[in-house]
Parts: sequence; C-alpha cells; structure tokens
Amino acid sequence: LLTTELSELDKKHFIHPTSSIAQQQAEGPSHIFTEGKGVYLTDSNGHKVIDGMSSLWNVNIGHGVKEMAEAAYEQMSKLAFTSNFSTFSNEPAIRLAEKLSKILPGDLNAVFFTSGGSESNDTAFKLARHYWILKGQPERQKIISRKMSYHGVAMGATSATGLKPFRDFTNANAPHFHYVNSSVEEFRTLIEEEGPETIAAFITEIVQGAGGVNLPPEGYFKEIRKICDEYGILMIIDEVITGFGRTGKYFAIEHDAIQPDMLCFAKGVTSGYAQLGGVALNNRLHNDFKTLSKGTLLHGYTYSGHPVACNVALKNIEIIERDGLIENAEKMGEVLYKGLKYLEGKHEIVTNARGFGLLGGIDIVKDSQSGERFDEYVSPLIVKEAAKLGLILRTVTYDHDSIVFSPPLIINEAEVEQMINILDQAIVNIKGEVLK
Ligand code: PLP
Repeated sequence: LLTTELSELDKKHFIHPTSSIAQQQAEGPSHIFTEGKGVYLTDSNGHKVIDGMSSLWNVNIGHGVKEMAEAAYEQMSKLAFTSNFSTFSNEPAIRLAEKLSKILPGDLNAVFFTSGGSESNDTAFKLARHYWILKGQPERQKIISRKMSYHGVAMGATSATGLKPFRDFTNANAPHFHYVNSSVEEFRTLIEEEGPETIAAFITEIVQGAGGVNLPPEGYFKEIRKICDEYGILMIIDEVITGFGRTGKYFAIEHDAIQPDMLCFAKGVTSGYAQLGGVALNNRLHNDFKTLSKGTLLHGYTYSGHPVACNVALKNIEIIERDGLIENAEKMGEVLYKGLKYLEGKHEIVTNARGFGLLGGIDIVKDSQSGERFDEYVSPLIVKEAAKLGLILRTVTYDHDSIVFSPPLIINEAEVEQMINILDQAIVNIKGEVLK
C-alpha cells in the first residue's frame, strides 16, 4: 500500500535527476529504497538487493554505518553551520583540509571545499583561468578535456564532459586499452592546433567512469604530464570516482605516480553520508595565488567547508583507514575481475572484461569473436533482469553497450561471488531472448 501511494506521489511531484520525465511518468519508480546495511539495500516491498554500484560510485564504506550518523549528530548539535567566507572558519573544515593534505600524494596541500564533483570541477576551471590572468597571460583561457569523459553537470563541468549527449566543447581523443587508440603525440598535435598560448588547463579522469570504466594504457598519463609541463598547461585530475580507495590505492594517480596541479574529489570523501567535494592545489599553485593575488576571487559556495559534511568526511576517512578498506578494494578487485573474466569465457555475448580495483566493466556484443554488435543495446535488458534477481548495476550506452561495477569497498568474497552468480543468471535469461 505504501509503495503504491509513494509511487503515485513520486510520479506527480518528484523530477528525477538524469532520467526521462516521460519514462518516469509511464513507469514510476522501480525501487523506493528504505534501508541500507553493508552492501545491501532494501526497498519498500521488502526486496533486498546488492548495491553493485555503491549507489552512484560513492558509498565506499557501505550503507548503514552508525558512526557516520553519530559524527553528523555530534557536529550538528554543536554547530550545524557557519560561514567560511573571508576570515571565518570552523574546526572540522580545518582538520579535514589538514588530513587531506596528508593523504593526498605529493604536495597537494591546500583544499577548496565544495558540495560535490561538478562544483569541484567548475572551481578548478575558474582557478586555472584566474591563475593565468594573475600570471599576466589572460589569453590562456581554453580548457582541454577528453572524449567519453564525464565531469558533471554544472555549466563548466557540462562543457568539459566529452560524452556525446553532453558535449559542446572540443575534446581530445581518449585512448582506452580496449576501445580507442590515441597516441600521446595526437595530444601534442591538438595543443599545437589550438595554440598552446591559449590553453589554461587539461582535465582528465584516470579511469573514465560514466564513459564505461575505460582504463588508460599503462604510463600514458606520465607522458601527458610531460607534455602539459612542456607547454605550461595546468593538469587537473578528476578523482571524483577514483578517490578514497576505489582503485586499490587512496588515489588513482598513485598507480603511475602522476603529480597534477589540481585534484578534484567528491563522492568517496564522505561515502555519500553528506554532500562534499573539493579541489586540492599543489604548493606551486597555492604559493603563486598567495603572492600574485591582489583582489578577491569571487568564487565560493554557501556550503564550502560545511562543518557537518567535513566532520562526516573525517569519520569516513577514519573508517577507511581503520578497517583496511583500500587493501580490501585491491583484494576484492582481483576477485571481481576474475569473476568478470569467467563470464567473458562462458558467454559469447560478453567481451572486454576489465577491472581496476573495485571498478569493473564488461561489454555486450552479438559475438565476441567477430566483435559484431547487437542492433539495439542489450546491456539495459541484462541490468533490468539482474535487478529483479537482486543485484543493482548500471549500463553505459553512449558508445559502448557496457555494464559497469563499483561495489562498496567493504564487500567480501562471498558477496562478490553472489554478484557474479546473479549476473551470470541474468545473462543466461536475456541471452536466450536476444540470440533467438
Ligand atoms: N566527475 C566525475 C568523474 C564523476 O563521475 C561525477 C559524477 O558522477 C562528477 C564529476 C560530478 O559529480 P557530482 O554529481 O557530485 O556533481
């Protein structure tokens, strides 16, 4: 009864993010989630499912962690909110900025806080442009991003996003080990064509998440960093998905020891228990801002450095470290990858099994030998079937026909196996239909 009532109200009043309003009207919500514990979610019908995506790649420590609620309660009871503009500050924001400076690799030692990934990327773009104005090179205003990238939906972040449905900027090619070949030299050519003296910054994810879990060729970003340095272009790394243990290291840049000028984070910094993001600046940039800055940069969100969100983030980081979740992500990532490889070997419609810590992906094709694709996307059918069987996953159907994986970092071996078994059954059920 409750589900029926809520479904009707949902259709009437709730416009869902990233969804077709028409489809929402026709179908109503498929799940109204009411509870979460560990890797499991329960909906209003009492149906329990594995959250194979950590919801939106973000619930790294899993659902229902009471200590997180206590951290929010404690701070909210003491001081729920205060301004951080100008000379005002608060303790959780200061402590979190210091903690981040310790766990971020290299000399990314100063942080500007936001409420999420899109705001973080917009902030990085504004800082980059402002930086070049202060340096006396105001013509450096262009930002290069990559095809198939996703950087969010604020205006700057949307412009940078290279997925076709979002694109309205020029993007560099993005090589993926399984998908597109694009050399480092191609990147250099693009810079030369655009005019290096007009380029402020280059932004990239290390692993493209919403683009389909596209892994970079080994060593690729080291070469890209060298080219950025050669042309004086600032390098911004978007670790909104990959940060806070997702890839089996604290940050994905650690795998290839890359040092960006700015690093954007969000999602896993609080595991979704509060809205928080930020941009970390390296010492060079931070020092230049200190010495060159004359006026005020008119950029700050009401919720920059929100005390409750920052206290929740501190607790989240404490739990990640105390419970060894980064090491677990590395170990369970191997189990997940093995499982995806098993599905690739078993089903002719599965190909390109890939994994990087607890990020994974497979592509769906008609025939993995020839690589021939289905006329229509099949991954949505499989994902829908998996949800019925008790596993929430996500499709990527911009250029690939992919299913992606990003379970909570607390997942254990039995739960990964449960994921693989459910997906296996979903593929069997759908394969019978689509290969008829
Ligand atoms: N950057 C990346 C790599 C993302 O995956 C996302 C969201 O999925 C964003 C930025 C935008 O973050 P938010 O949705 O918190 O604004």
